Order: sequence, then structure tokens, then C-alpha cells
Amino acid sequence: MAAAPAAKPHLVFFPFPTQGHVTPALQLARLLHHCHGFDVTFVHTERNRLRLLRARGPSALAGAPGFRFAAVPDGLPPSDEDAARDDAAALLLSLPTVVPQFKDLVLSELPAASCRRLLLVSDIDPILRAAQEIGLPCVTFWTTSASSLMAMQQIQHLVAKGLVPLKDAEQLRNGYLDSTVIDWAPGLPKGMRLRDFPSFIRTTDPDDAVLALTLRLTECYRTVPSAVVFHTFEELESQVISAMSDILPPIYAIGPLPLLLREVGAGAGGDHAASISVGSSLSKEDRACLDWLDGKRPNSVVFASFGSLVKLTCEQLVELAWGLASSGYDFLWVIRADQQVTGSAAGATAVVLPPEFMAETEGRGRVTSWCPQEAVLRHEAVGAFLTHCGWNSMLESVCAGVPMLCWPFAADQQTNSRMACTEWRVGVELSEDPGREEVEAAIRQVMGGGRGEELRRSVAEWKYKAALAARLGGSSWVNLERVVNEVLALVD
Ligand code: UDP
Repeated sequence: MAAAPAAKPHLVFFPFPTQGHVTPALQLARLLHHCHGFDVTFVHTERNRLRLLRARGPSALAGAPGFRFAAVPDGLPPSDEDAARDDAAALLLSLPTVVPQFKDLVLSELPAASCRRLLLVSDIDPILRAAQEIGLPCVTFWTTSASSLMAMQQIQHLVAKGLVPLKDAEQLRNGYLDSTVIDWAPGLPKGMRLRDFPSFIRTTDPDDAVLALTLRLTECYRTVPSAVVFHTFEELESQVISAMSDILPPIYAIGPLPLLLREVGAGAGGDHAASISVGSSLSKEDRACLDWLDGKRPNSVVFASFGSLVKLTCEQLVELAWGLASSGYDFLWVIRADQQVTGSAAGATAVVLPPEFMAETEGRGRVTSWCPQEAVLRHEAVGAFLTHCGWNSMLESVCAGVPMLCWPFAADQQTNSRMACTEWRVGVELSEDPGREEVEAAIRQVMGGGRGEELRRSVAEWKYKAALAARLGGSSWVNLERVVNEVLALVD
């Protein structure tokens, strides 16, 4: 009698607990569950669990047969306010405290619940190391660009060459980051400036905690997981992906996931997409802004949104407001509830837009605190996206064929912006602290003819290539199949 086929491993997803990581991890988990029949436990931190319940009610955590949610305490104080909840540095530093709870979940709860073999999918290095300690096989799911991980992998060499940490604060201000060209990073453009590397290098402190965490994370990814899965597509980042194979365990590019999910839905016909649709928003969405967009002409609206973490200073908000106003274009602008002003406006805690700005833009501008961004970008009224260059935002924009104004703030955003503006030619880059005239001029450039036309042509080509990669049989589906085989092989 033939041996019964081995049971599939039970996948434990545990993404870094912010929106930009949770969304693609949930998309990948749903896809593997739906298309390949894996059982999944999706782990949130306790604070995100509470936040999901507040934003979307119990349905946000309802699960399905073979797909369940779990939560581990994160050691961060619970808060009823949105304010400061997503402080990235606090989150980073709190993560090691999650490790014992995570081990408990795996060692005591999960086997009893599943009686299956387990495999961890995570981008949190203390969690990957914990998995290694307890003999749990693991893969990394890197939710941002391959280019940004390659740039992060170079930080150890920048340190060895004495370029990082910076010598003094003056180097941050005097153009040093712009004039220092790093032409030796494998797979990255020859013209990469120090400015284009992840913001973690912008320190003068040899003991900088975030720099140390970055070095630990990149070392972990080289040595701990059995594979690294990227939320990108091969055609977009082929050079860097190929260079990365020399540095990391086997790698697979399986994005853009929103398109793969739609492909599965489309293949099954009609509303099937809804049955595997992935509500992942940690905040309540203002869907009425889609109705507002319905009333606008095609390509007439500038959409401005800075993801889930970036905080603008009061001055930046005001300059941006007047740049939007004087561009003459209609606009939809996301200002999160926790977008309290930072920096020089001492004591200010809430966003106050100038009353003259509100009066001048009445009827042609809409400000909202959180929108269904992917749907907004796909709306035909949207002609340009003013973005902080978070990777999900950029992929969503490419998939929708919308050119970008790139204003990177921190983390991987500088690298993403560089690639978008000089390699993929889908955006124009703003300076580090743009004033209203610069914002106005850049909007006119991207929304208008000439350069705007070029950007629209280029982004349309990338949109087409993304769709091909995500079509059944395209490169990302082929790679996803390979991941499945690799995943199975790991636990056999
Ligand atoms: N997003 C959203 N509504 C908003 C603003 C953002 O749904 O009003 C989503 C956006 O579509 C993206 C995610 O939040 O999927 C932000 O991730 P990204 O990687 O762009 O930036 P991060 O928040 O990690 O800086």
C-alpha cells in the first residue's frame, strides 16, 4: 500500500506589527491557505489585535476553517488613542520582549491546536532567532523592496570603510550625503548616493541602537532562515535579485500580492475574490472618499498620503497645504489621526490647517484620516500620488499606473525613492524638506505634459509587466510554486 502523503506544514505568520508589514503578510498567508491548502496561524501583537477590533469589529479576526488568528502581548502600554501607537522605534525596541510569549505559543498552544508540523514566516529577527533556538524551521518574508534589503546589507561595509557612523552632525547638513557616491554595491545603481541608503545610517553615534539593530537583522537574514521571500516582482528588480542570491539563502520574488489575489478571484469568476479578500486595515477607512472621487474628471486629482508611520512637522504640513492649494489641481490628502505635529511647533498636538487654506480649497480638496488607499489609487480620477515611498504604497501605485512625487522620510524609503525616480522612471524626487513652491512645481510637472507624459508612459509599462508577473503562469506564480515546494521540503 502506498504511504499516505505527508500532512502539509502548519504555517505560523508573525509580521513586524505595523500596517506596511501586516498587510502583505496577511495577503501571502491568505494566498497560501486558499491556493495551496496550508493551515495558517496568523499572529498579531496584542495591541494590534485590540486596534483591529476597534477599527473593524470582531469580523477582522474571524478567520476561517484552517485559518486562525492568535495574539501575543507586546509589552507596550495599551492605549485608547491612536496617538503614538505606531512609534516605530518603540516598536523595534519592544520586540525582544515578545520572544518568550511567542515561544510559549509555539511550544504549548500550537501543537495541541494543530497536531501538525510547523513553519514560521516572519521578518522579525528576534522571532526568527527564537525559532532557530527551538528547532522551528523558518523563512523570512521581506515586505519591502529587494533594493532596500540590498542597501541594508551594505551597511556593514559602510561601517567597515569608516563612512558610517557619520563623523559629525555637519555631514548631515552640508551635502555630504548627496556628494558621496557608493558605486560598489552589488546590483544597485552605480550612482547611488549615501543619501539613498536606508536612513539608519544617518547617525553620528557609534553605539546607535537602531544602527545596531539593523546590523543584527541583516546578519540574521543571511544566516538563520532557509529562504527569503520578497514582495516584489523579478522584472522590476532583476539585477539586485540576481546579486542578492550570492548573499542570502534561496530567494523568491512573489509580488505584487494584490494582483495575485485578484488573479485568483478573477480565475474563479465573479465575486470569488471577495471570499479570499484580505481586510487588513488597522484603522477605520473613509470609503466616502471613493464617492467624492467619482465626481472628478479622469487624472485630475493629486492623492497625498504618507503611510502609517511618517509624521510631518507643522511647517511641512503648512508648506504642503499651500503647495497643493497653489498647484490648482484637486486633491485628496490623508492626514492620520495620530499625525500630530512634531518639531518646532512647541506644544502642538493636533493638526491645524490654516483656515485660509481650507477656505481657498473648499470643493476641490478633501482631507481624510484614513482611506481605502489601493482602491483610491485605482480610481481613474487619480492622476498623481504624492508619497513617502513606503513599499506597499509604491507597488500599489505602479499596479494602478499612477506616477509619483517621491518624498522619502525614513527607513527603506530613501532607497525606494531612488529606484523609482532614476531606474524605473515612475516618479520625481522632492528635496528633503520641500517648500510650497517646490511642491507646486513638482505637482504641475507630474500632472502636466512633457515630463508628466514620460512618467505616465513609463509607469504604464511597469503596470503591464506587474500584471504579467502576477498572471497565472507569470514569474511570481512560478516563484510562489517554488516557495511551496521549498516550504514543504523544509519540514519533510
Ligand atoms: N494605507 C491605507 N490607507 C491610508 C494610508 C495608507 O490603506 O489612508 C495603506 C497603504 O495602502 C499601504 C499601507 O497602508 O498598503 C502603508 O504601507 P507602506 O509600506 O506604504 O508604508 P508604511 O506605513 O509602512 O510607512
